[in-house]
Amino acid sequence: MRNFIAGDWTDGCENRQLAVTDPSDGSLIANVPDSGAADAKAALDAAQTAFNSWRTMSARDRAGILKNWHDAIVAHREDLGRLISREQGKPLAEGRGEVLYAASYVEWFAEQATRANGEVIPSPFGNKRLLAVREPVGVVAVVTPWNFPAAMIARKIAPALAAGCTVVAKPAEDTPLTALALVKLAQEAGVPAGVINIVTASRERTPTVVDVWLGDERVRKISFTGSTPVGKHLARDSASTLKRLSLELGGNAPFIVFDDANIEAAVEGLMAAKFRNGGQTCVCPNRVYVHDVVHDTFVAKLAERVSALKVGPASDPTSQIGPMINERAVQKIERHVRDAVSQGARIVVGGERIRKPGAPQSAYFAPTVLVGTTHSMACSCEETFGPVVPVTRFHVESEVVAQANATPFGLAAYFYTESPARIWRVAEALECGIVGINEGVFSAEAAPFGGVKESGYGREGSVHGLDDYQHIKYLCQGGIQ
Ligand code: NAD
Repeated sequence: MRNFIAGDWTDGCENRQLAVTDPSDGSLIANVPDSGAADAKAALDAAQTAFNSWRTMSARDRAGILKNWHDAIVAHREDLGRLISREQGKPLAEGRGEVLYAASYVEWFAEQATRANGEVIPSPFGNKRLLAVREPVGVVAVVTPWNFPAAMIARKIAPALAAGCTVVAKPAEDTPLTALALVKLAQEAGVPAGVINIVTASRERTPTVVDVWLGDERVRKISFTGSTPVGKHLARDSASTLKRLSLELGGNAPFIVFDDANIEAAVEGLMAAKFRNGGQTCVCPNRVYVHDVVHDTFVAKLAERVSALKVGPASDPTSQIGPMINERAVQKIERHVRDAVSQGARIVVGGERIRKPGAPQSAYFAPTVLVGTTHSMACSCEETFGPVVPVTRFHVESEVVAQANATPFGLAAYFYTESPARIWRVAEALECGIVGINEGVFSAEAAPFGGVKESGYGREGSVHGLDDYQHIKYLCQGGIQ
């Protein structure tokens, strides 16, 4: 595979290769360019050139191209789903589901493109007329993580194109193939040369690529999803040219089960929220707080469900949990479980890596339930990003809300209760961007996705999703008698 720059498939300037492997067994899927600064600059030059014509195309025409892209993605659902599962490891049903989820953003922003209205402002002056119009900010640099190889690319590139911006993108090093497949479909759908440019790079060489974009005044915005430390780095290093930033960063979601909750529904919600993508999503519950009165019943039901989960490669249609993305990820999960146990937590189910015969370095981790976890443990303070449920007992609503908020992060939170008054109290008190109330699955293209505190800023999807890609220009016409 190659980079996609200025409408052409090009080898990296330095002729280095990055191997993309299947996380289930480490086998090679394909090589992509391990790009450098010259590739990043070529992509940026192309995006800047294309911006001049893309921005002046009518919103209706841009929307038409995005609709074609949406249709092409849906038509290739099976192939794309398989590709996502192969390079990322999620079960095939989830890979297919991600394709439709990604496509929903493309369709949504095709529709939003034609509704980016301005304003006619009631004039305080008899001889002047005041208007506000929306304009695309310019070239957008997109950097994405590996856990949703299609959805993250779509959720950023679709609004950028709808707004009239052009894009340079660096997909995650573990999963660049889906991004390249999507851009091929975009090209076939009629996206002109230079409007989307994709540059692939290894983790080591990613700064060589992205630093070019950070330092160049032609890039007017960065849209990033990934870890908080990298997000902070991008914010710092883009400050010299005052770029706009959308940062969707790490989470540490609490999941609270009150004594008046529907326990069956809470277990169901936790299973759906926690074990999607093997626990590797930024909105996965990371800390589960269960009221003392229902704790043992809840844990018993949860343990039964978790021990029944089937772990295996994405290629096996019966798999419910795939491999973790890489060895670094498995080692982090192992560290969290070890740390919790050393501080007094007890393993109810799972607790260790699953070694497969003949596979020296298995990336499979057994779905795990821990009880007796406390706030001082690594699994409560850091994102585990794996199939581990740490359960902590609580007694008092105000205390559990304080504990839920006692983190620098604020992306998602969940709680289960049947009390209408508590629903309002707790939903309003939680410091986060998204709240699941008696619900474990909330993502939708029509809803605003994003966090507060060190989970970042900006909202993706919804009627707000175009805002970050457009600035408002005020027009004042005088001399009107
Ligand atoms: P990561 O931050 O390590 O990598 C994300 C992207 O940043 C990758 O493309 C990577 O190559 C790039 N990157 C790494 N170092 C960089 C540097 N110095 N300069 C520029 N780019 C650099 O995160 P990850 O391990 O790929 O993903 C997991 C993290 O992403 C988790 O913390 C998770 O919570 C977060 N995440 C957040 C959301 C959200 O919507 N808020 C969604 C998915 C994942």
